[in-house]
Amino acid sequence: LRQARTAIRESELVLLVVDGREGPTHLDVSLVQLLRKLGQRFYLVVNKLDVPKVDDLIHSFHALGVESLYGVSAEHGRGLDRLAEDLISLIPGGSAEEVPVETRVAIIGRPNMGKSSLLNRLAGQERSIVTETPGTTRDSIDTRIFHEGRTYRLIDTAGIRQKGRTTGLAEKMSVVMARKSIGRCDVALLILDAQEGATRLDATIGGYAHDEGKSLIVVINKWDLIKKNTHTVNELEEKFRFRMRFLDYAPMVFVSAKTGQRVFKLLDYVDRAGRARRVRIPTAELNRLVESRIQLRIPSAGRDRHPLLYVSQVATAPPTFVLFTRTRKRLHFSIERYIVNQLRQAYDFYGTPVRVFQRTRATIRSRSS
Ligand code: GDP
Repeated sequence: LRQARTAIRESELVLLVVDGREGPTHLDVSLVQLLRKLGQRFYLVVNKLDVPKVDDLIHSFHALGVESLYGVSAEHGRGLDRLAEDLISLIPGGSAEEVPVETRVAIIGRPNMGKSSLLNRLAGQERSIVTETPGTTRDSIDTRIFHEGRTYRLIDTAGIRQKGRTTGLAEKMSVVMARKSIGRCDVALLILDAQEGATRLDATIGGYAHDEGKSLIVVINKWDLIKKNTHTVNELEEKFRFRMRFLDYAPMVFVSAKTGQRVFKLLDYVDRAGRARRVRIPTAELNRLVESRIQLRIPSAGRDRHPLLYVSQVATAPPTFVLFTRTRKRLHFSIERYIVNQLRQAYDFYGTPVRVFQRTRATIRSRSS
């Protein structure tokens, strides 16, 4: 009981799990009394109801006067759906979307783009507190910063500060580092130099983030060195995008690590991308979209039969969708792109790659059988 008391104090909700086959024991009764005395919210989970035949055993627990009663079999997976649903509905926001404690950010890019300067800005300000936290590998050190109530882990900050002795070496290191830290991040910041424009290597590094399904924000640094007029932003953006066309979903932000202009704004964008990659859309909602916006626009497969049957999201981070089609025939590339664009218009997949796979109804049938 003493242990239980400690656990109860640290919890927002307690699941009191009892053996349904035994009926309420003295200990069960004491625990219920204790929970009530402490004013603790709790659910009574009556376990070991392995088969429907023994479901009636739950009635003996009604005597305890507990409102939230769940009959389950942990071993056989019975009754757990309702319990899980009720637990999820208690989470603020009321959805199954997981809320991470920190957003992991990789700062990547070629040498001399201003990665260290940006890191110093982000980590060196009074507004953020820096704690050096060991990364997963022994030689990497992450920096955790706190900003406006949110926590960010800047990945492998030791690597960012490290400089190669020769240009060639520095360049190679920047690629290796990008690969390594992209693997561990949620959102990557690809740093470019406003004066230099984008190179093929920049596109390669951005491509790693894309392939790994990480969210990406393109950060054009050294904005202070640019002579500006009203067209500068658009012209520069066009120039940079031309080199990295496949990263069209990545927002472009113009900053100056030197003056600090828009540097902390970056964290807002990181938040938005971090949220976007965890979005989970219910199948019913997706299919309202399919019916109202998508099916009508794609060519039918003859006699008004549309090739696309329905869409289901199968994963988050990155958001991944399966397009169920009537036939095995691969959807035309332009149709697939149209569907992704419609999804992007309807939902905020800010800075985040969206993946789609095609399946025929037949494959699904054979899979579930
Ligand atoms: P890294 O190799 O990507 O880590 O780049 P550094 O942070 O070491 O920066 C390379 C050079 O660019 C240094 O001389 C910095 O002082 C300079 N630099 C970085 N950011 C800016 C910026 O926003 N404006 C200007 N004018 N110089 C910058």
